[in-house]
Order: sequence, then C-alpha cells, then structure tokens
Amino acid sequence: MPDTAPDQMPSDLLDLARAAKGFMPGDEGDLLFRIALERLPHGPGLEIGTYCGKSGIYLGAAAQRVSRATGATAVVFTVDHHRGSEENQAGWEHHDASVVDPEFGLMDTLGQFRKNIARAGLEDHVIAVVGQSRTVAAHWRTPLSLLFIDGGHGEQPARDDFAGWAHWVDTGGYLAVHDVFPDPADGGRPPYELIYLPALASGAFSEVAVQGSLRVLQRTQGSAGDPL
Ligand code: SAH
Ligand code: MG
Repeated sequence: MPDTAPDQMPSDLLDLARAAKGFMPGDEGDLLFRIALERLPHGPGLEIGTYCGKSGIYLGAAAQRVSRATGATAVVFTVDHHRGSEENQAGWEHHDASVVDPEFGLMDTLGQFRKNIARAGLEDHVIAVVGQSRTVAAHWRTPLSLLFIDGGHGEQPARDDFAGWAHWVDTGGYLAVHDVFPDPADGGRPPYELIYLPALASGAFSEVAVQGSLRVLQRTQGSAGDPL
C-alpha cells in the first residue's frame, strides 16, 4: 500500500531519506514531499541548503512522481556552496567531522549529496547548483512553483535569502521556510525574524501549513519577479 498511496513516498525512497545524513525530521520531510507534489506540475522548485541531500530526496521523490504523471521532467534545483553553515563548522553543535575535506580543512558535502541522490535514482530530478546563494540569486530569472529556504541561519544569509529569492515564487506557489522558531527558547531567530515575518508582512503570502519548525506560505498576491 505505501507505494501507491497518493500522498506517500515509495517506501524505498522513504527509507533512503530517513537514513541520509542531515537535518530534516521525518514528519517535516513528509510535508515537503506533499507540497512539492502539489506544486511541481506548475514549474521548477528550488531549495537553498542542500547539505547531503536529505530534504532533496523528499523533493526529488515528488518530482519523479510528477514526471511520471505528466510526461514532462519535473525538477528541483538545490543551491549550496557545500562548505557548511556557521553552526556546522568544527567546534559547533551541528559539526560532523566525516564531511571535512582534509586538503582544505573545509567542509565538503557535495560528494555525500551526489551519492544520496544517485542511490535514490533521482539524478534527473534534483539538480545541484554549487555556489553562494546570494550570487546565484543575483542571476536567477525563473519563476518558482516552490521555494524551500533552509540555508545559512545567520542574520546576513537569512536577509540575503529573503531579498534574493522570495520574489521568484509565482502566484499560488509556496514559500517553505525551515527552522522557524517563534519562541526564542526553541532555536535561533533569523529564519523567523528575517524570512518568515517579512514574508507575511509583505502581504504577498499567507500561511497554509505548519509541521514542527517547517512553515509553508502561499503566494496570494503578485507574481514571480514582482518586488515584495
Ligand atoms: N536541507 C538540508 C540541511 C541544510 S543545512 C537537509 O535536509 O539536511 C544548511 C546548508 O546551507 C549547509 O549545507 C550550508 O553549506 C548551506 N549554506 C549556508 N549558507 C549558505 C550560503 N550563503 N550559500 C549557499 N549555501 C549556504
Ligand atoms: Mg534546517
């Protein structure tokens, strides 16, 4: 049954997503899969913050299902410099020494991403863009059916991600934001204060779903490229 239920991932992909290294709880990944399934028939999706491709498997599984249903290749771009966020560096809480490149003494999650997406058979659907989110955004011109922001959680990266990307969400499209913590006791402020609140304050988005720290907003005013 799980393989055919309309809003559930095939169990083999679900196992791979659950096992992949990363920061996406299962129930939030399930919501990502469902919103991607809904939106990807309308155009490409984009994620900021690939890490090792854990969330990418949920998004890619949806893209694969949409492709099979429509006959056109649905895709999700995923942007990351693969050098880790502040909180992933040595000495910080979310550091993982197995993803450090010894030659440069810097994190490198690109290889893990590639393996995870290849294992899942999703290479046609999850397209890596390797670089600074801000730089990629400056050249981006394509309306998005779904934008998932899960990149740097410092103040500047959060500001840049909102300013550089949110306006590319098309009418009816979703802006999903991870690590949104309204209560400071639960976690860092920037995704809440500098992405989630400004998106709501712009008047262009309204909230449609919440699971854990994952918030999903829908663009109800304006269209892709219009300033917010
Ligand atoms: N979505 C992932 C977790 C992402 S962790 C999962 O499911 O596991 C955040 C990622 O954002 C890190 O891999 C880090 O390298 C990336 N990142 C942080 N700041 C960035 C920036 N300014 N540009 C590009 N990527 C960035
Ligand atoms: Mg996150």
